Amino acid sequence: MNPFPIILSAPSGGGKTTVMKRLLATRADIGYSVSATTRAPRNGEVTGRDYHFLSMAEFRRRRSRKQFAEWAEVHGRMYGTLRSEVRRILKDGRHVMMDIDVQGARQFQAAFPESVLIFLLPPSGEVLLKRLVERDTEGREAHLVRLRAALEELEEVPRYHYVVVNDDLDATVRRVSAIVDAEEVRHERVASVNKTTRSLVSQLKSEIRRYANR
Ligand code: ADP
Ligand code: 5GP
Repeated sequence: MNPFPIILSAPSGGGKTTVMKRLLATRADIGYSVSATTRAPRNGEVTGRDYHFLSMAEFRRRRSRKQFAEWAEVHGRMYGTLRSEVRRILKDGRHVMMDIDVQGARQFQAAFPESVLIFLLPPSGEVLLKRLVERDTEGREAHLVRLRAALEELEEVPRYHYVVVNDDLDATVRRVSAIVDAEEVRHERVASVNKTTRSLVSQLKSEIRRYANR
């Protein structure tokens, strides 16, 4: 199997983290690329597991050393995907899943054109606001920043290969998992498809000869 990168994007509160955690818990063939960020950890977040929490100076240092496969400023903070994370997981033979914003997705796809881009849509504006508020990780001002940013992010939806409405969580996780399964058997990704088909043709020809002479 040829492992490939999977990008999951959604407006803040759209369910990326939740869906990703559920998927990673059920599939050993997918690894998570831990991003770097200059934002502060939220309650319960652990450095190296949820993010690599860096100072602005450290982020800049890594950026100048070309350590990021992509980076972007999101909601006033810096975020970036470490090349070392992507390489580590792909080398391990697993698909690498990333939760990155729309600007990052565009940059990453240019560097890794084999990437699969999935956008999670909230069922409605009202539900998105409710989920953001009930998550209770930011205040009202930060909610407004995220909701306004969502308006711009939604303009990028047509660039994505798949769009999944995150209504029922189990159904969403099943759908995203099914996308990964289908992508694995895409003609372009099956490295040995030509060789396999050629050998099947020659086997079949000899079967036909044998059968015709019976
Ligand atoms: P994101 O990572 O995209 O910002 P989260 O995964 O943090 O979003 O989800 C935002 C909130 O919505 C969380 O409190 C999460 O538990 C909740 N949530 C996510 N998906 C669903 C769903 N399908 N049904 C109900 N609640 C959900
Ligand atoms: P949060 O701070 O809520 O975890 O994430 C805020 C936004 O940053 C989300 O849209 C998320 O997808 C995006 N993000 C997280 N990691 C990365 C990354 O490595 N690169 C980019 N470009 N965006 C990221």
